[in-house]
Amino acid sequence: MEKLPVLFIGHGSPMNAIDDNEYSKKWKAIAVQLPKPEAILCISAHWVTRGCFVTSMQHPRTIYDFYGFPPDLYKVAYPAPGSPKLAETIINSIKSIKISSDTAWGLDHGTWSVLCRMYPNADIPIVQLSLNADLTPAEHFELGKELRSLRNSGILVMGSGNIVHNLGEINWGGTAFGWAVEFDGLVKQKIENRKFTDLINYQTLASSALRSIPTNEHYLPLLYVLATAEPDDNVSFFTESITMGSISMRSMIFGNAY
Ligand code: ZN
Repeated sequence: MEKLPVLFIGHGSPMNAIDDNEYSKKWKAIAVQLPKPEAILCISAHWVTRGCFVTSMQHPRTIYDFYGFPPDLYKVAYPAPGSPKLAETIINSIKSIKISSDTAWGLDHGTWSVLCRMYPNADIPIVQLSLNADLTPAEHFELGKELRSLRNSGILVMGSGNIVHNLGEINWGGTAFGWAVEFDGLVKQKIENRKFTDLINYQTLASSALRSIPTNEHYLPLLYVLATAEPDDNVSFFTESITMGSISMRSMIFGNAY
Protein backbone atom coordinates (compact mmCIF):
# COMPACT_ATOMS: atom_id res chain seq x y z
CA MET A 1 0.00 0.00 0.00
CA GLU A 2 1.30 3.41 -0.95
CA LYS A 3 2.33 5.59 1.97
CA LEU A 4 0.07 8.62 2.32
CA PRO A 5 1.36 12.15 2.71
CA VAL A 6 0.20 14.36 5.57
CA LEU A 7 -1.55 17.69 5.13
CA PHE A 8 -2.02 20.89 7.04
CA ILE A 9 -4.85 23.03 5.72
CA GLY A 10 -5.30 26.69 6.64
CA HIS A 11 -9.11 26.63 6.46
CA GLY A 12 -10.07 30.28 7.16
CA SER A 13 -13.69 31.23 6.59
CA PRO A 14 -16.40 28.54 6.32
CA MET A 15 -17.40 30.31 3.08
CA ASN A 16 -14.49 28.53 1.39
CA ALA A 17 -16.85 25.55 1.29
CA ILE A 18 -18.96 27.29 -1.36
CA ASP A 19 -16.76 30.10 -2.74
CA ASP A 20 -14.55 29.26 -5.68
CA ASN A 21 -11.38 31.07 -4.72
CA GLU A 22 -7.61 30.56 -4.69
CA TYR A 23 -7.87 28.38 -1.56
CA SER A 24 -10.76 26.11 -2.43
CA LYS A 25 -9.36 25.59 -5.94
CA LYS A 26 -5.99 24.53 -4.53
CA TRP A 27 -7.61 22.15 -2.04
CA LYS A 28 -9.40 20.47 -4.91
CA ALA A 29 -6.24 20.35 -7.02
CA ILE A 30 -4.10 18.81 -4.28
CA ALA A 31 -6.63 16.03 -3.66
CA VAL A 32 -6.42 15.00 -7.33
CA GLN A 33 -2.66 14.46 -6.93
CA LEU A 34 -2.95 12.17 -3.91
CA PRO A 35 -3.45 8.42 -3.84
CA LYS A 36 -7.08 7.83 -2.83
CA PRO A 37 -7.09 7.34 0.96
CA GLU A 38 -8.81 4.38 2.64
CA ALA A 39 -9.97 6.84 5.29
CA ILE A 40 -9.15 10.31 6.61
CA LEU A 41 -8.21 11.32 10.13
CA CYS A 42 -8.79 15.02 10.71
CA ILE A 43 -7.58 17.05 13.68
CA SER A 44 -9.70 20.20 13.53
CA ALA A 45 -9.35 23.48 15.43
CA HIS A 46 -13.08 23.37 16.07
CA TRP A 47 -13.27 20.36 18.35
CA VAL A 48 -11.69 21.14 21.71
CA THR A 49 -12.57 18.84 24.63
CA ARG A 50 -11.54 17.95 28.17
CA GLY A 51 -10.03 14.53 27.65
CA CYS A 52 -9.35 13.12 24.21
CA PHE A 53 -12.00 11.69 21.91
CA VAL A 54 -12.27 10.09 18.51
CA THR A 55 -15.52 10.03 16.52
CA SER A 56 -16.68 6.45 16.12
CA MET A 57 -20.16 6.74 14.65
CA GLN A 58 -21.10 5.15 11.32
CA HIS A 59 -22.72 8.33 9.97
CA PRO A 60 -21.23 11.58 11.32
CA ARG A 61 -23.53 14.62 11.01
CA THR A 62 -22.50 17.86 9.32
CA ILE A 63 -22.10 20.44 12.11
CA TYR A 64 -22.82 24.12 11.37
CA ASP A 65 -20.61 25.56 14.09
CA PHE A 66 -20.71 29.18 12.92
CA TYR A 67 -23.19 32.04 12.99
CA GLY A 68 -24.42 34.78 10.68
CA PHE A 69 -23.38 33.30 7.34
CA PRO A 70 -25.56 33.20 4.19
CA PRO A 71 -28.34 30.56 4.10
CA ASP A 72 -26.63 28.68 1.23
CA LEU A 73 -23.82 27.65 3.54
CA TYR A 74 -26.26 25.94 5.92
CA LYS A 75 -27.64 23.92 3.00
CA VAL A 76 -24.31 22.19 2.38
CA ALA A 77 -24.38 18.64 3.71
CA TYR A 78 -21.32 16.43 3.69
CA PRO A 79 -22.61 12.89 4.19
CA ALA A 80 -19.26 11.06 4.21
CA PRO A 81 -19.35 7.89 6.31
CA GLY A 82 -17.48 7.49 9.58
CA SER A 83 -15.11 4.63 10.30
CA PRO A 84 -15.72 2.82 13.59
CA LYS A 85 -12.84 0.54 12.54
CA LEU A 86 -10.31 3.38 12.29
CA ALA A 87 -11.62 4.85 15.56
CA GLU A 88 -11.00 1.51 17.25
CA THR A 89 -7.50 1.27 15.78
CA ILE A 90 -6.69 4.72 17.18
CA ILE A 91 -8.16 3.94 20.60
CA ASN A 92 -6.14 0.71 20.80
CA SER A 93 -2.86 1.97 19.39
CA ILE A 94 -2.37 5.25 21.28
CA LYS A 95 -0.37 4.55 24.42
CA SER A 96 0.58 7.98 25.80
CA ILE A 97 -2.97 9.04 26.67
CA LYS A 98 -6.42 7.52 26.98
CA ILE A 99 -8.56 8.08 23.90
CA SER A 100 -12.31 7.65 24.32
CA SER A 101 -14.95 6.84 21.75
CA ASP A 102 -17.37 9.64 20.82
CA THR A 103 -20.74 9.19 19.16
CA ALA A 104 -22.15 12.73 19.59
CA TRP A 105 -19.87 15.01 17.56
CA GLY A 106 -19.63 14.59 13.79
CA LEU A 107 -17.84 16.71 11.19
CA ASP A 108 -17.29 20.33 12.19
CA HIS A 109 -16.58 22.99 9.58
CA GLY A 110 -12.82 22.72 10.08
CA THR A 111 -13.25 19.30 8.51
CA TRP A 112 -16.18 19.44 6.09
CA SER A 113 -15.60 22.93 4.62
CA VAL A 114 -12.26 21.63 3.32
CA LEU A 115 -13.15 18.02 2.50
CA CYS A 116 -16.27 18.97 0.52
CA ARG A 117 -13.86 20.70 -1.89
CA MET A 118 -11.19 17.98 -1.84
CA TYR A 119 -13.54 15.00 -2.08
CA PRO A 120 -16.94 16.28 -3.28
CA ASN A 121 -18.32 12.73 -3.65
CA ALA A 122 -18.17 12.28 0.14
CA ASP A 123 -17.19 8.65 -0.38
CA ILE A 124 -14.14 8.42 1.90
CA PRO A 125 -14.73 7.55 5.58
CA ILE A 126 -13.74 10.30 8.01
CA VAL A 127 -12.80 10.26 11.67
CA GLN A 128 -12.05 13.29 13.84
CA LEU A 129 -9.67 13.36 16.80
CA SER A 130 -10.39 16.08 19.36
CA LEU A 131 -7.91 18.59 20.74
CA ASN A 132 -7.55 17.78 24.42
CA ALA A 133 -7.50 21.13 26.25
CA ASP A 134 -5.62 19.55 29.15
CA LEU A 135 -2.46 18.85 27.11
CA THR A 136 0.56 21.10 26.63
CA PRO A 137 1.79 21.78 23.08
CA ALA A 138 4.62 19.29 23.69
CA GLU A 139 2.09 16.64 24.72
CA HIS A 140 0.02 17.29 21.61
CA PHE A 141 3.18 16.76 19.56
CA GLU A 142 3.97 13.48 21.36
CA LEU A 143 0.43 12.26 20.71
CA GLY A 144 0.82 13.23 17.05
CA LYS A 145 3.92 11.02 16.74
CA GLU A 146 1.81 8.00 17.64
CA LEU A 147 -0.40 8.67 14.63
CA ARG A 148 2.52 8.50 12.20
CA SER A 149 2.16 4.80 11.42
CA LEU A 150 -1.40 5.33 10.13
CA ARG A 151 0.15 6.79 6.99
CA ASN A 152 1.32 3.28 6.08
CA SER A 153 -2.23 1.93 6.27
CA GLY A 154 -3.76 4.18 3.65
CA ILE A 155 -4.93 6.81 6.15
CA LEU A 156 -4.68 10.48 5.20
CA VAL A 157 -3.81 12.45 8.33
CA MET A 158 -4.90 16.06 8.07
CA GLY A 159 -4.66 19.00 10.45
CA SER A 160 -7.11 21.85 9.84
CA GLY A 161 -6.53 25.23 11.50
CA ASN A 162 -4.66 28.46 10.80
CA ILE A 163 -1.07 29.29 11.77
CA VAL A 164 -2.01 32.93 12.41
CA HIS A 165 -5.60 33.37 13.63
CA ASN A 166 -6.67 36.55 15.37
CA LEU A 167 -10.40 37.20 14.86
CA GLY A 168 -10.25 40.19 17.21
CA GLU A 169 -8.05 42.04 14.73
CA ILE A 170 -9.80 41.12 11.49
CA ASN A 171 -9.25 43.75 8.81
CA TRP A 172 -12.07 43.15 6.30
CA GLY A 173 -10.68 43.53 2.80
CA GLY A 174 -7.54 45.13 4.20
CA THR A 175 -3.88 44.35 3.90
CA ALA A 176 -2.07 41.91 6.12
CA PHE A 177 -0.70 43.17 9.42
CA GLY A 178 3.09 43.23 9.69
CA TRP A 179 3.10 41.02 12.77
CA ALA A 180 0.97 38.41 10.97
CA VAL A 181 3.28 38.35 7.95
CA GLU A 182 6.32 38.15 10.21
CA PHE A 183 5.06 35.28 12.32
CA ASP A 184 3.72 33.29 9.37
CA GLY A 185 7.06 33.68 7.59
CA LEU A 186 8.97 32.63 10.67
CA VAL A 187 6.87 29.48 11.00
CA LYS A 188 7.49 28.67 7.34
CA GLN A 189 11.24 29.04 7.85
CA LYS A 190 11.20 26.82 10.97
CA ILE A 191 9.23 24.16 9.08
CA GLU A 192 11.67 24.22 6.16
CA ASN A 193 14.60 23.87 8.58
CA ARG A 194 12.75 21.19 10.57
CA LYS A 195 13.04 23.19 13.79
CA PHE A 196 9.92 21.60 15.21
CA THR A 197 10.94 22.10 18.86
CA ASP A 198 10.91 25.85 18.25
CA LEU A 199 7.38 25.52 16.88
CA ILE A 200 6.23 23.52 19.91
CA ASN A 201 7.59 26.39 22.05
CA TYR A 202 5.88 28.96 19.81
CA GLN A 203 5.18 31.37 22.66
CA THR A 204 8.85 32.29 22.92
CA LEU A 205 9.50 32.32 19.17
CA ALA A 206 8.91 36.04 18.61
CA SER A 207 6.98 38.96 20.07
CA SER A 208 4.50 38.53 17.19
CA ALA A 209 3.57 35.04 18.46
CA LEU A 210 1.02 36.03 21.08
CA ARG A 211 -0.79 38.38 18.71
CA SER A 212 -0.77 35.70 16.00
CA ILE A 213 -1.97 32.98 18.39
CA PRO A 214 -4.18 34.63 21.03
CA THR A 215 -5.71 31.19 21.64
CA ASN A 216 -3.95 28.12 20.31
CA GLU A 217 -6.75 25.85 19.01
CA HIS A 218 -6.10 26.90 15.38
CA TYR A 219 -2.33 26.42 15.77
CA LEU A 220 -2.30 23.03 17.51
CA PRO A 221 -3.40 20.98 14.46
CA LEU A 222 -0.09 22.05 12.88
CA LEU A 223 1.82 20.28 15.66
CA TYR A 224 0.03 17.00 14.85
CA VAL A 225 1.01 17.37 11.21
CA LEU A 226 4.66 18.10 12.04
CA ALA A 227 4.73 15.13 14.41
CA THR A 228 3.40 12.85 11.69
CA ALA A 229 5.98 13.97 9.12
CA GLU A 230 9.02 11.75 8.49
CA PRO A 231 12.56 13.18 8.25
CA ASP A 232 12.81 12.17 4.58
CA ASP A 233 9.50 13.77 3.57
CA ASN A 234 9.63 16.77 1.30
CA VAL A 235 7.46 19.70 2.29
CA SER A 236 5.72 22.11 -0.03
CA PHE A 237 3.38 25.01 0.66
CA PHE A 238 0.43 25.11 -1.72
CA THR A 239 -1.37 28.17 -0.36
CA GLU A 240 0.41 30.89 1.56
CA SER A 241 -1.34 34.22 1.81
CA ILE A 242 -2.71 36.21 4.74
CA THR A 243 -6.42 36.95 4.43
CA MET A 244 -8.51 39.55 6.28
CA GLY A 245 -5.36 41.02 7.78
CA SER A 246 -4.86 38.50 10.54
CA ILE A 247 -5.50 34.97 9.24
CA SER A 248 -2.76 32.90 7.63
CA MET A 249 -4.06 30.62 4.89
CA ARG A 250 -0.77 28.73 4.69
CA SER A 251 -1.31 25.07 3.79
CA MET A 252 1.34 22.41 3.32
CA ILE A 253 1.94 18.82 2.36
CA PHE A 254 4.65 16.48 3.66
CA GLY A 255 5.49 13.43 1.56
CA ASN A 256 8.08 11.82 -0.69
CA ALA A 257 6.50 12.85 -3.94
CA TYR A 258 5.66 16.47 -3.19
ZN1 ZN B 1 -11.53 27.90 12.09
